[in-house]
Amino acid sequence: MSERERGAGNPFYGKHHTEATKQKLRLMNLGKKLPEEVKQKIAARSGIGRRGKHFTDESKRKIALALKGKFDGIKNPFYGRHHTEETIEKLRAINRNRSEEWRKKISLGNMGHTSPNKGKKLSAETREKVRIARLKQVFPFKDTKIEVAIQNKLGQMGVTFRKHEPILGQPDLFIEPNICVFVDGCYWHGCPTCFKEERSDYMSRRTAADRFVNEELIRRGYYVFRFWGHEIENKADKIEEELLAIKRASRASEDSIFGHVIA
Ligand SMILES: [Zn+2]
Repeated sequence: MSERERGAGNPFYGKHHTEATKQKLRLMNLGKKLPEEVKQKIAARSGIGRRGKHFTDESKRKIALALKGKFDGIKNPFYGRHHTEETIEKLRAINRNRSEEWRKKISLGNMGHTSPNKGKKLSAETREKVRIARLKQVFPFKDTKIEVAIQNKLGQMGVTFRKHEPILGQPDLFIEPNICVFVDGCYWHGCPTCFKEERSDYMSRRTAADRFVNEELIRRGYYVFRFWGHEIENKADKIEEELLAIKRASRASEDSIFGHVIA
C-alpha cells in the first residue's frame, strides 16, 4: 500500500465491509494459495514466525509502553492465584535439569546487556558520581508485597520511616537517626531456610554481600534489622516482636554508639 492510499487518502477510509461482504471475502480467500512473499508479509505483521527473532530497542520501548499497566494487579490473569505445590516442584525440576549449554546461551544472551562502561577506565570523580547515582537508584521500582506489609505495620505502630535510604545497602526502610530495616525476599537473597539445598552461585554471592552490608553498617554505628519473606508470610509473632524491638531501638538509639543485628 502506498503512502497515498493510507489513512484518509484511502477511498475506503472510515468505511466498513458489511457482514455479507465479509462472508463473501472469506469464501473467496478460502483455499486460495498465497504467493510466498505475501505469506511472509502476513507472518511478519502478525508475529508468526518471529519466534527467536529480536525486536529493535525502539520496538521494545513501544511494546513496553503499549503494555504498561495492562496486566497490573487485578488485570493480570494470574492475579490472586498461586501455583500449586506440584507446579512449583515441576518448575524447580525444570531449572535443575537445565543443560550446561542452556546456561551458556542465557549468559551469552545477557552479554548484550553489560554496562556500556565495562572495561573503561573511569576517573575517580566519575566513579564517585556513579556510586552515588547507584545508591539513589531504586530497584525494583515497585515496593514488594513483603515490604509493604512491614511498612504498614510500622506505620500502625506510629513509627515514621523513609524508604530506600541512599546509604550503603540501600535499606528498604530507614528510621531516624540510625535504624536500617531490610526486607529480604527469600529467593533473591538466598534464604537459608527456604533454599537450603538448591543454592545458586548468585544466592551465595548475595548472602555474602548482605553480610558485608550488615557488618559495615554496624561498624558505622547503625542498627540493622533483617526480615525474611517467609517470616513475614508465616511468622506473625516473630515479626511482631522484632517490630517492637525496632520501635524500642528508635527511641534508645540516640544514646547508642554501636548497632546490633537481628538476622
Ligand atoms: Zn525463606
